[in-house]
Amino acid sequence: MDARISRLLAWYRRHGRSLPWREKTGGHAPNAYRVFVSELMLQQTQVPRVIPKFTAWMRRFPTWKRLASASTADLLHAWAGLGYNRRALQAREAARTVIEHGEPTTEREWRQLKGVGPYMAAALTEFANHTRAIVIDTNIRRVVGRLMQGIPHPRPTDDSRIRLALERLTPKTGAHWHIPQAFMDLGSAICISRRPLCDTCPLRSSCKAAPRFLNGTAPTKPTSAVREKRHNEKPYPDRIYRGRILARVREEGYIDRRRIGTNIDPDFDPIQDEAWKDAMIDRLVRDGLITRDARGILTLPRT
Ligand code: SF4
Repeated sequence: MDARISRLLAWYRRHGRSLPWREKTGGHAPNAYRVFVSELMLQQTQVPRVIPKFTAWMRRFPTWKRLASASTADLLHAWAGLGYNRRALQAREAARTVIEHGEPTTEREWRQLKGVGPYMAAALTEFANHTRAIVIDTNIRRVVGRLMQGIPHPRPTDDSRIRLALERLTPKTGAHWHIPQAFMDLGSAICISRRPLCDTCPLRSSCKAAPRFLNGTAPTKPTSAVREKRHNEKPYPDRIYRGRILARVREEGYIDRRRIGTNIDPDFDPIQDEAWKDAMIDRLVRDGLITRDARGILTLPRT
């Protein structure tokens, strides 16, 4: 085994995170359903916030079967606080596919499930099936890009080089699923985004980027550009306001659309912002997250 991987795994055995969906040191694959739910929740939400949500979700929907028969309202209540509410509905759709066709066992089969993209399919193959796949998330990209390529702040456009490096580093046999988990944990605890803690890193002696970070010549990370179009100079992307509308409906049970305003944006302008609000409500209805009757009363779907 590559010496860098041996040092990484030694560090991981002592310092790796113990997470409810992860089989940290055991040799058998963890429950694929738990891995699926955790990966879905982790798409936009940090690990500490996901842990209690994951635990509560598992109490409510402990199996694919229970998830497949969940009502939309129950799903949206359980998903509250995780953002991108459509993911909760995609999870149910995926569960229905699993019930009908069986649990996927390959990366290709995972990709067939609703809401599962390339990263998630690779992660599920590696973590749930213990079949070798190349997993690249933000933390892995950062650590491997620095370690192997010397890039201080790797971007998704560097992924083909990072993939090749991971192909070389990852053994074809043995418990290779610990390697991406170890890279993730190192990226979260030590090889952090702006100022990595190279002094305490187990990979320091062989890391191509470490000298520049240690002597202070590595460039600082460029500030990220705004990714989503903003409405009317609103401080947040529209999805944040859609999430707030959904939260009002979820908390009150039903609400008249006319009562949506300053409760989603303190600066809501009843003349200028009305069309914007209706467009967001239309989108929520189209996505199946709320229903709207002829009087403009918004509720959670019954099914
Ligand atoms: Fe990251 Fe520094 Fe470790 Fe290299 S030595 S992997 S830059 S923390």
